[in-house]
Amino acid sequence: MNKIVVAIDGYSSCGKSTTAKIVAKELHYAYIDTGAMYRAVTLYFQEHYIDLTNPKKVSQALQEIHISFERNARTQRNEVFLNGLNVEDEIRKMYISNKVSEVSVIPEVRHCLVKQQQKMGKKRGVVMDGRDIGTTVFPDAEVKVFMTADVYTRAQRRQQELLLNGEMVPLDEIKENLEKRDRIDSTRKESPLVQAADAKLLDTSHITIDEQVDFVLNMVAAKIFQSEYTESDKC
Ligand code: C5P
Repeated sequence: MNKIVVAIDGYSSCGKSTTAKIVAKELHYAYIDTGAMYRAVTLYFQEHYIDLTNPKKVSQALQEIHISFERNARTQRNEVFLNGLNVEDEIRKMYISNKVSEVSVIPEVRHCLVKQQQKMGKKRGVVMDGRDIGTTVFPDAEVKVFMTADVYTRAQRRQQELLLNGEMVPLDEIKENLEKRDRIDSTRKESPLVQAADAKLLDTSHITIDEQVDFVLNMVAAKIFQSEYTESDKC
């Protein structure tokens, strides 16, 4: 079967990136963390004091932003670069998490990043995680998963990630941030966070990473089987 697009959407800190990374590795596909792109834009806007209420300034600033992903041989991670600088750790910090959803609401930002993401996945063979992949970026994705989990589990996972990045943040503050982001992400006008009609729901509150990965890989296998069976059926 030709390469497909695997879209993994859902709420913040449900394990989307962890799952997507492993699935991509198993399939030998590219992995694109679209949240990292919104975070990188947020970092640029913060550093350059861009007025988020001024569409002209926002559009001008977007022209100055170049985002890329590069493999780090030492960490074995795909890391995000902003105008040639590695910002992988910086964009995960709490001050970016506190601002990113306000930036992601801006139509100019969304149009720009959605276009780049569609270009990145044009040849397919990609696992992309985010909020609007199955609905807006690749509505024709062959496999769509929508992840959810209870907010305490998510806050605990996020706290561990922040700790690994050298930041100690109280659980309540993280929980508040996750809930605020989910609210803004779900209620924005432009490509809100919503489960695509043809996406399968996966609640990761009480399952392991291996189980999450298996869930997605089983969907991929079923899709490939279905398409090969249908093709070989044809005269
Ligand atoms: O996935 P992550 O938590 O890093 O995403 C950070 C933020 O980026 C989200 O809360 C959301 O505001 C925004 N985002 C988005 N659309 C995507 C991916 C992320 O609006 N496809």
